[in-house]
Amino acid sequence: MSTKPCPICKTPKQSEEYAPFCSARCRDKDLNRWFNDGYSVPGPPADPEDIARDIDQGHD
Ligand SMILES: [Zn+2]
Repeated sequence: MSTKPCPICKTPKQSEEYAPFCSARCRDKDLNRWFNDGYSVPGPPADPEDIARDIDQGHD
């Protein structure tokens, strides 16, 4: 078994297409993490997915 789990969600990746991530979602998540590193303070890790969801639901 040479397959490593996805570094983001730790689930076994299903395909090599997005290696080393399991999916485009996790790949984007990793990208966002690096972007956020530039201007976020140390502390509880902000989940880019949650942030995106907040923005998404910001319609009233
Ligand atoms: Zn993943």
